[in-house]
Amino acid sequence: MAKILIIGAGGVGNVVTRKCAGGWHGQAVLGRGSDPRCFDEIILASRTKSKCDAIAAALDRPITTAQVDADNVPQMVALIKKHTPDLVLNVALPYQDLPIMDACLETRTDYLDTANYEPIDEAKFEYSWQWAYHDRFKAAGIMALLGSGFDPGVTNVFCAYAQKHYFDEIHTIDIVDCNAGDHGHPFATNFNPEINIREITQKGKYWENGQWKEIDPMSVSMDIDFPEVGVRKGYLLYHEEEESLVKHITGLKRIRFWMTFGDAYINHLQVLQNVGMTSIEPGYKETAAQAVSYTTGVPAMIGAQMMLSGQWKKPGVHNIEQFNPDPFMAALNTHGLGWKIIEGKTLE
Ligand code: NDP
Repeated sequence: MAKILIIGAGGVGNVVTRKCAGGWHGQAVLGRGSDPRCFDEIILASRTKSKCDAIAAALDRPITTAQVDADNVPQMVALIKKHTPDLVLNVALPYQDLPIMDACLETRTDYLDTANYEPIDEAKFEYSWQWAYHDRFKAAGIMALLGSGFDPGVTNVFCAYAQKHYFDEIHTIDIVDCNAGDHGHPFATNFNPEINIREITQKGKYWENGQWKEIDPMSVSMDIDFPEVGVRKGYLLYHEEEESLVKHITGLKRIRFWMTFGDAYINHLQVLQNVGMTSIEPGYKETAAQAVSYTTGVPAMIGAQMMLSGQWKKPGVHNIEQFNPDPFMAALNTHGLGWKIIEGKTLE
């Protein structure tokens, strides 16, 4: 018997709730029932309760919905005390990570998220703020699993799997993120637009020989031949999983992250920047989510399953590559994110 409290009813919250619930409108989800004890009871809470209710209405089984401002620690504490979940799964925005972790500490409840904390007034993301909770989580006997989405998330587990099964040391890692879809719109972001634009308009950086090297935003690109997709232009960006993988992969000498964008996307972003619309000053808001929500929501559900079933259990604040990758990799296959290993060329 386990109870989960999901915070955030956006694109990712929608997928993770459907996956935990195991089906909607008579349509079974992949991997349904693989461990139903993990999600006996589901509570979905978000800033706008009607969005939770809309998700609940599409499910085959009843769940509880609630309104919460997750920036408000006493509100979060009251919600957790009312429902006494075994795990709080945070798929609100990165700004809410710390208040939700504070509420978990106060109520001694396990925590999981998919994106690291960012202060709202500074476009900067790093794990330091959340790693600072490690000793307090450990002392309280509770666990936080950070970054259980796709990237970070599945990418980290792939690295842990390669380290465990194939290599004594891994010297270089290039994470290549390719969006092969075409939605026909000249400009649309892959997930929450504000978070996405903050990510790509800040300075890029990569890690080499023990040092972080900074580059101007979108100033380094390379044609990358993606299996099953073809050649796409990838841009060197900073991405949060680099920070934890540098700590946890043995022998690492260089790690970089590349993401593809079409020319139309880049041109529109340039225009938005020129007219000041990518500024982090308040004003830009929209909601969008689709395939990226799926590839994030599924690993979030699997991470929750790893914790609730006790397969991954260690008090403290941990990144996802610190756990045995095997059960997670097996679950990816049964939950619609199949993978295979292809021997390819090393990027220069
Ligand atoms: P959305 O904007 O679609 O959804 C965010 C949800 O959080 C909304 O329902 C929003 O409420 C709710 N929310 C925002 N602020 C609060 C608050 N103070 N209290 C309660 N609820 C709040 O974003 P996505 O679903 O696309 O992304 C969700 C998370 O997943 C983000 O942190 C994102 O960075 C992360 N992500 C991770 C990826 C990965 O691979 N690791 C990839 C993609 C996303 P309202 O509806 O009222 O606005």
